[in-house]
Amino acid sequence: MSRLLTQPEIDWKEDGTPVARAAGDVYFTAGDGLAETRAVFLAGCGLPEGWSGRESFTIAETGFGTGLNFLAAWDLWRQTRPSPTAFLHFVSYEGFPLAREDAARALSAWPELAGLSDRLIAVWPGPVRGVRHFIWPEDGVSLTLHLADIAESFPDSVYHADAWFLDGFSPAKNEAMWAPDLFKWVSERSVPGAPAATFTVAGAVRRGLADAGFSVAKAPGHGRKRERLEARLATPPAPEPDVFGLSRPLPRANRVAILGAGIAGASAAHALKQLGAEPVIFDPADGPASGGSGNPMGLVMPRLDAGDTAQARLLVDAYLAARQTYRGRPGVTETDVRQVPKDDAETARFEKLLADPPLPLEDLEALAGGGLLHKRALIVEPAKLLPSLLAGVEQHYGARPDVDLASRTVNGRAFDAIVLANGMAAGALLPWLGLEARMGQVDFTDGPAGAPPFAMASGTYALACGTRRLWGATFDKVAPETTPFTSDAAREENLKGVEALSPYWIRDTRSTDIASRASLRATTADRLPLIGAAPDHDAFLETFAGMRKGRPADADAPLLDRVFVSSGFGARGFTWGPWAGSVLAARLCGAPAPASRSALEAVAPARLLLRALKRGRA
Ligand code: SAM
Repeated sequence: MSRLLTQPEIDWKEDGTPVARAAGDVYFTAGDGLAETRAVFLAGCGLPEGWSGRESFTIAETGFGTGLNFLAAWDLWRQTRPSPTAFLHFVSYEGFPLAREDAARALSAWPELAGLSDRLIAVWPGPVRGVRHFIWPEDGVSLTLHLADIAESFPDSVYHADAWFLDGFSPAKNEAMWAPDLFKWVSERSVPGAPAATFTVAGAVRRGLADAGFSVAKAPGHGRKRERLEARLATPPAPEPDVFGLSRPLPRANRVAILGAGIAGASAAHALKQLGAEPVIFDPADGPASGGSGNPMGLVMPRLDAGDTAQARLLVDAYLAARQTYRGRPGVTETDVRQVPKDDAETARFEKLLADPPLPLEDLEALAGGGLLHKRALIVEPAKLLPSLLAGVEQHYGARPDVDLASRTVNGRAFDAIVLANGMAAGALLPWLGLEARMGQVDFTDGPAGAPPFAMASGTYALACGTRRLWGATFDKVAPETTPFTSDAAREENLKGVEALSPYWIRDTRSTDIASRASLRATTADRLPLIGAAPDHDAFLETFAGMRKGRPADADAPLLDRVFVSSGFGARGFTWGPWAGSVLAARLCGAPAPASRSALEAVAPARLLLRALKRGRA
C-alpha cells in the first residue's frame, strides 16, 4: 500500500457519465444524476424538512466521489437554511479521490450547480491520506473529508450524524463499502432516529442496516430503478466510553474566552468565528504575537516521518491545514525549502521517505545531490498574519487577566468556555500538564543584497523574504519562569548552523548588522502538542484508578467543565495553530471533528494522565 492514495482512472461515456474503470461502475448517471441524488438521498433522508429549525445539522456519506451529493445538499441548504447562523456539516469518506480535472469535468454536467462546483473545485484536495476540512462560513457549510480506505478511516472518525447517504458503488462491485462492520460504524455515529438513504435494496444492505439497529423500508425508486431504501435508527447502540474526552456531546459554546493572542489563540479565534461563535481574546502583552509567535518571520514546512504512522499523518494533516488557512493572507509568501540531510541516518530516512512519499510531486521532490525539496511551503510574517486572523475578534491587552476556571470567568465576565492558548502560562493554571520551557533565539538582518528566493532547513533553518533574512533557532531547556533573553552564544550557535547550510548565505549575513530575538516555547515530554478538553485531574485519577492494576479504561473522562487547552506547540506553532484551532472550534460548536480519532487521542491532554496511570505513577 503506498502512502499516497490511488486516483481512479475514469472512462467517460458518450453522454458524459463518469465510470470508475477499476470498479466498473458509474459515479452518477449523466442527465439524471442530480435528480436521482435529490430523490434518493435528500428526499430519502426527509430533507429539507429534517433540518428545519435546526442550528446545526450533520450529514455523513460513504463515498465522496465527484462531490455531487455534497453539492446537491449544499444547494438545498442555501435555499432552505433554517437561520442565517445555522450550519450544515457534511462528512464524507473517499479512498480513491478523483483528480481535480476529472472532478471538474464530471461536475460540469450540472450547470445549475456551477457556482458551488467552482468553489469545491477551488479547494479540491490531492491524493494525500488523512482528513481535509473546508468551510464556507458565508453559507454556513463545512466539509470534512476522510481520505483513506473506509475500513481504516470510518472507525477512526468522530461525530454524530443526523442523516446518512450510503453511496458506495453497487454492493456487487464494491463489497468494502457495504461490509457488515460498516453498518455498525454508521449506527455508532448516529443520533437516535437518524435516517439513512441508499439507492440499493440488496439483501445484504437491508440485513446489515437491520442488524445495526435500523428499521428499513423499501421506497419507490427513481427513474428506471424500481426501488430504493429508507432506513431510520430505531435502536441506537450504547455509546462507547469517552476515555479521552473527545466525543461526548457538550452544550454548544458561543461566548468563548481565549487566553493568549499568539498563533494558538488567533487560530482558535479565527476558527470559532468561522463557525459563528463569539471568541474574546485576553493577553497581558500590548498586542498579538508577543511571545513565541512574535518573530519577524517564521517558516511553515512539513515534518515528514518515513513510516506511515498515526503521528506521521497527523503532522501532514496539520501542515496542510496551516497552508490552507494562511494562503492568500497578508504576510504570507510561498517558498521552496531545501532540506539537506544532517547525517547518514537522515540520508537513509529521506531515501525511504522519497521511495513512498506522503505528499505528491507538487509538494515534495528529491533534491539534486540528496535531500528533500519542499515546494509550496510558506514564510509567514506574524505581525501581518495574526491581525488578519484576528479581524473582527474582541481583544483585550495590557493586563494579566483574572481567570477562574471553575466558574469560567475572566475578569469577572462569564463565558461558555475557556481556551488556554497561552503557551507556558497554561501550565501555571494546570500544572499537571507538565509543560517544559525552551528558549528559542532567532537572528535576522535587513541585508543590502537581495536574498535568495528559497529557504533552507536542516536542524537550523534560514529563510529570506525581500531583503530580510532570518535564521535560527535555538531550543534550549530553561526553567518555566525564565524571562527570555538573547545571547551571543545563541547567535554563534545559529551562525554555525547556517554556515553548515550554505557558505554563501553566511558570507552575506556576517557582513551586515544582526538583530536577535528570543522567546519561550512550551513543549511536552512526547513532543506532541496539547489540544483538547482539560480533564479534571483528581476526578480523572480516581475514575481510572483501576488502570494502575492493569484494568482497562472504561468510563467517560471526567472533564473540567468546558475548559480546553491549545499549547505545547514547541518550535512549530505556525504549523500546529490552524489545525488545533479547527479541532477546538469543532468541539466547542458541536461540529464533526476535522481530524481522525487517533490524531485527537495523540494530542488530547488526557493522554498524559492515562499514560501516567498505565505506568502506575500518577
Ligand atoms: N457520492 C458520490 C458522488 O456524489 O459523486 C458518488 C460515490 S461513488 C458511487 C462510490 C465512491 O466510493 C467512489 O468514489 C469510490 O472511490 C468510493 N470507494 C469505493 N471503495 C472504497 C473504499 N474501500 N474506501 C473508500 N472509498 C471507497
